[in-house]
Amino acid sequence: MSEPVKRFIAGAVCPACSAMDTIRMFELDGLPQRDCVACGYADSLDIRGNVVPREIPTRVNKDKPAKPAAQAQTVQFFPNPKLKKKRPE
Ligand SMILES: [Zn+2]
Repeated sequence: MSEPVKRFIAGAVCPACSAMDTIRMFELDGLPQRDCVACGYADSLDIRGNVVPREIPTRVNKDKPAKPAAQAQTVQFFPNPKLKKKRPE
């Protein structure tokens, strides 16, 4: 495993601490990531280009309850054709 190459973005301003030239960008799992060397702020972009704030595991948020698995329950819906016939007029 090789460390991703992190590059500073000239002129970029951190959305969290407003410091300039502290934002680094790198790729992780094919998605662009940003982090701020001044305050530790980090986010990433999803496939649609939306900014996704990233939580840093070394911070205080480790006591948060674990998120439930993102897997959606498979809801199976069986339309009953018999019910469709009896429509109240
Ligand atoms: Zn910052």
